[in-house]
Amino acid sequence: MQLRDLSDHVEYRAGRGIEEVARELGRDPSEFVKLSSNENPHGPSPKAEAAIRDAAAEVHRYPKAVHADLTDALAERWDVGAEQVWLGNGGDGALDYLARATLDPGDRVLVPTPGFTYYGMSARFHHGNVAEYDVRRGEAAPEAFALTADTVLDAYDGERVVYLTSPHNPTGDRFSLDAVETVADETGEDALVVVDEAYGEFTDAPSAVSLLGDRDDVAVLRTFSKAYGLAGVRLGYALTPPAWGDAYARVQTPFAASAVACRAGLAALDDDDHVEQTVDSVTWSRRHLAEELDARTYESHANFVLAHVGDATAVTEAAKRAGVLVRDCTSFGLPEHVRVTCGTREETERAVDVLNEVLADR
Ligand SMILES: *Cc1c(COP(=O)(O)O)cnc(C)c1O
Repeated sequence: MQLRDLSDHVEYRAGRGIEEVARELGRDPSEFVKLSSNENPHGPSPKAEAAIRDAAAEVHRYPKAVHADLTDALAERWDVGAEQVWLGNGGDGALDYLARATLDPGDRVLVPTPGFTYYGMSARFHHGNVAEYDVRRGEAAPEAFALTADTVLDAYDGERVVYLTSPHNPTGDRFSLDAVETVADETGEDALVVVDEAYGEFTDAPSAVSLLGDRDDVAVLRTFSKAYGLAGVRLGYALTPPAWGDAYARVQTPFAASAVACRAGLAALDDDDHVEQTVDSVTWSRRHLAEELDARTYESHANFVLAHVGDATAVTEAAKRAGVLVRDCTSFGLPEHVRVTCGTREETERAVDVLNEVLADR
């Protein structure tokens, strides 16, 4: 038996966990802080935690009602119809449904570089091909990023799906709503623009959800993994145009989100205080990193800051030995940058101290 040709497929490389690193270095996990995966350092909402515990007693049942309840709650929150809400196993799962609903074999998609790798992976799973637009623009040293309509349209060549990450991972920059509209206007009649707002809670810019009512070519991705602190339960969703009707029912893997995930999501949606505290904490941490790191940083609208440190792999390794895990952006194509997730006050201060020591020693 032969597998299909997987030579173009690449493995998703997640930031390594504390346990893994501690074992490798023969150290105690409590000595480390993990600021490499853009997780919520404050944990999940206490309400979500309680809901997960309560959900345990009913996991012998398929999650039909609770799936509908969460869909309805999200539809109400965003003022869209329930059929426009496509729950998924993480935002990544919802990305798969969008690819499944749009791509014919051999269709091309356009993804940002540097950028989130799962867009291309998902397209390839669905027999699509991947082209890239470069978000690095201009001559400013060491790197200048520009998320404008031209950045995308200069590279556009008839692709079927165009991915915009706003706020962008790993730069923290964002597209204006005008830019999103221009991209949607100028791309092909049957092209879909996916606006990935995984970090949407951390920016004061309006969501592209406002465009859905008038258009059939924009979809928005949101997740419970970042601001809501539920990365481990895997829950995200796409918001899609009303004109797509019952497409979700035709492409979803049955019960795309588990009973545990749906219960947690419902409870988290009901805990505005948790999200507010998280956003306040990120706002402080982001400013602290920008002001105190002895490295060039880029304005961020997300829960992380990109910093220019020179040899990113060496700096990441040295910081790791000092107990602070940050993301080496070499795999994103930025070998001179690290991405630092906004931690608690204590974690952020420690990250700044450690990184500044590492940078001073170089
Ligand atoms: C984290 C992230 C997602 C979604 O992650 P899930 O955990 O699958 O919800 C999507 N896009 C970007 C850019 C991300 O950073």
